[in-house]
Amino acid sequence: METSRNTEPGYVTWSDVVGLAQLTDNLQNAIKHNKISHAYLIQGEKLSGKRMIADIFARALQCEAGKAPTAHQETLFDAPAQYQGPPPCNQCRACKQAVNGNHPDIIYVTHEKPNVISVDNIRQQVNGDIDIKPYSGEYKIYIIDEAEKMNVQAQNALLKTLEEPPAYAVILLLATRAEAMLQTILSRCVVLNIKPVPEDLIKKYLMQKVEIPDYRASICASFARGNVGRAIELASNEVFDHMKSSVLGLLKHISELEINQIAAEVKKISEEKFDTNDYLDLCFIWYRDVLLYKACGAFDSKCPIIFKEDMTALASAAGYYSYDAIEKIIHAIGRARSRIAANVNFDLTMELMFLDMKAG
Ligand SMILES: [Zn+2]
Repeated sequence: METSRNTEPGYVTWSDVVGLAQLTDNLQNAIKHNKISHAYLIQGEKLSGKRMIADIFARALQCEAGKAPTAHQETLFDAPAQYQGPPPCNQCRACKQAVNGNHPDIIYVTHEKPNVISVDNIRQQVNGDIDIKPYSGEYKIYIIDEAEKMNVQAQNALLKTLEEPPAYAVILLLATRAEAMLQTILSRCVVLNIKPVPEDLIKKYLMQKVEIPDYRASICASFARGNVGRAIELASNEVFDHMKSSVLGLLKHISELEINQIAAEVKKISEEKFDTNDYLDLCFIWYRDVLLYKACGAFDSKCPIIFKEDMTALASAAGYYSYDAIEKIIHAIGRARSRIAANVNFDLTMELMFLDMKAG
C-alpha cells in the first residue's frame, strides 16, 4: 500500500520501474503463484534497469511480510503484520538487510578482473556455496551482473549448477548481450528482455520523480532512446548541457558563418571530446524541430517541439529553410553518422555536413 511505503533512498519498488509492466508482472506473478524458476536472465542495455529489477525481485523473494517462519527461522523479526501489499514490503528485517547489501542469502558475484568473470569466481562464489542452506531467507539468491563476461569455462561451471540446483536456489543473470552466452545456459533460464520505454513515460517519470523541468525532461527523454537510466543520467550531466549549448549556438547562426569559422567549430567538437552520436542527435532534433515549427506554426501547443525555449530561433530557421532543404539536411546528418561509423575522416565529414546546413 502506498501509504506505508518506505521512501528512503534505496527502497525502490516495482512501481519505480517505469514502462516495463510485462516484465515486472512476470516476476511478481511468479512470486504470487509460487512458481519461481531457478534461473533468470535479464537482458537490457547499460543503465536500462537490470540491476534495479534484480534487486527488487531478490528483496521481494526474501521479504518476510505476510509469511510464516520457514524451517530455519524460529521467528520473523519486525515483519509488519499489517502489510497487505505485494512484496517487497521494504520494512521487514529482510528488506532492510537487502537494501543495505547485507542480506546473507542475497549474494552478488564479484570478479577482480574488470572484463572477465573467471571459472574460479563461479566455483568459489556460486558452486562452492550453493549447497549450504540459506541462513535466514527462504531462498538463496545469486546475482551475476555483466554475466556475458563469464568466459566459456566459467559458463560451463555455472551450467553444472543450473542442471541440478538445490530447491532454494535462484540465479539471476544480468547481461547486455545474451548472445555472448552459451545456448545451453540460455535454455535453462527464463529470459526477460528490457524493451525500450516510450518517450512520454520517461518524460513523465523525469518530471514527477526526479523533478526535472518540462523542457529539460523532453530533451533528455527523447535522447535516451527508451532507456530510463540514460535519461536520468543525461538530466544530471553537465557535459551534455555544455554540448547542447554548443550545438544550438552553432546551428542558430550557421547561415552566417564563414568556412574557416565552421572548421574551427569542428575542431572544438574533437577538443571538447563530445560524444559524436549525441552531437549528431542534437543536430537532428534541432532540424526536426525546425520542420515541426514550419509544419504546425508557432503556437500549436500539440506540436511536439523539443527546444521550446528557442522558439524565436526556430521561427527564423523555419523562415530560412525550405522543406526540401530541411529534408536534405536530415539526410546529411544520417550520412555523416554512417561515414563516422565507417571511420571516414571526422573533420571532413562534419565540415561537409555543416556546409549542407549553411547552404539552406
Ligand atoms: Zn519485507
